[in-house]
Amino acid sequence: MKQLGQSRRQCLFCDRTDLTKEHAFPKWARAFIRNEFPKRVHSFDSIAFDVLDRRMTSSIHRTNRPGDPRFSGIRAVCRTCNGGWMSRLQQRVKPMIVGLNHDERYQLSAEDRQTLSRWAAVTATTFEHRHAHLTCSTKESRSKLRTPDPVSADWSVWIARYEGDRWASFNHFGGPLTLVHRVTGTMHPIPGLGVQSTAWVLAGLYFQAVYSTLHRTALPPGREAAASYEMRKTTMRAKVLWPSDDSPMVVDGPVFSDIEADDESRRALGVTLGQSRRAWE
Ligand SMILES: [Zn+2]
Repeated sequence: MKQLGQSRRQCLFCDRTDLTKEHAFPKWARAFIRNEFPKRVHSFDSIAFDVLDRRMTSSIHRTNRPGDPRFSGIRAVCRTCNGGWMSRLQQRVKPMIVGLNHDERYQLSAEDRQTLSRWAAVTATTFEHRHAHLTCSTKESRSKLRTPDPVSADWSVWIARYEGDRWASFNHFGGPLTLVHRVTGTMHPIPGLGVQSTAWVLAGLYFQAVYSTLHRTALPPGREAAASYEMRKTTMRAKVLWPSDDSPMVVDGPVFSDIEADDESRRALGVTLGQSRRAWE
């Protein structure tokens, strides 16, 4: 299937084609991982809209990939991006992760919040690409992440503390808004419209980044999904890292167990246990 907003061999973030293997987590993060997993089955949920019944449905996609997905490389980013701005961003984030991990009173400045949110958006975007047919970000929105500017208001990022040890990989939900033809069963993704949520843990920290462009549509399924997302956002327990009101913050809680972290990862999009397994299953 044709991918949205990009040709197959182009960098996720620019037009170059000299792709190199890129990892969702940088090498230094390996020291903070409590468990590594040799193999994972991924299940992905996508939001679909039944054209005739005018209702939302969800579908689950499963794939098998060898290796711990946090450290298995995928060829999606060019040499210039990988060794340039992405590398600099990882190096800027490292002392924050280390500081937060060792000191629960560690203070993130307003600038730190912006940088950490951009890193979270880049991490979520890179992970989203692993299941390219469910990609909802556009090339234009991804290319903006190359600049040090604040990430757009389409992004929301949450942070909390984590004390479990069973979480593996990421919990990723969402996808492009899709029209499903009831008679033929064919699915028609709507370019540039969708919502995705990606959550992960890194040592004693929980991160969740949600990208939504549903508020841009007047289509009934998009409007309904956007309204329910706005409502669910208010029930999130983790702390809002982004959007930021330009104030510093301390991440002194909440502290999530494995189950609490998994429950939180579903909250923004209302994903039930029947729709997707726990993060460690
Ligand atoms: Zn590039």
